[in-house]
Amino acid sequence: MILYRLRCAKGHEFDSWFKDSKTYERQEKKSLIGCAVCGTAKVERALMAPRIGKKGKDAALPAAVEAPAEATATPSAEQQQMAALARQMPKELREALLKVRAEVEKNCEHVGDKFAEEARKIHYGESDKRGIYGETSDEEAEALAEEGIEFGRLPWIPRGN
Ligand SMILES: [Zn+2]
Repeated sequence: MILYRLRCAKGHEFDSWFKDSKTYERQEKKSLIGCAVCGTAKVERALMAPRIGKKGKDAALPAAVEAPAEATATPSAEQQQMAALARQMPKELREALLKVRAEVEKNCEHVGDKFAEEARKIHYGESDKRGIYGETSDEEAEALAEEGIEFGRLPWIPRGN
């Protein structure tokens, strides 16, 4: 099973499980996936794991994370939501996401809420090409995508139980 975050043409985001990525692609092609909010079949994936650990261009791909790092004492609504999501997901998926998280933390520079700003600078050559990760809003993420800036989004699930 694979969990995808989907986004419809009107910008509603929702999570949906698929048997595997092929099943998702097949259903998407046939417009069988409806938005959980408005029902439109114009749906695309909003969740992409960052391509990391490779040399060259791919290694410089910045990754946006969905929830802030767990430095704050009281978890935000987003963090609580992510924790609840993490509890529901199959163990293998949770472990895979934690592995991705560890890789990102090891290989990329944390830029906090400056993600959109930095991603833009890197894209336009004003900043060194490197892997970065941080937080960004849905609006910012959309703006980045419209400018043709490549990045991945992943659920930033909390460590531990
Ligand atoms: Zn919708």
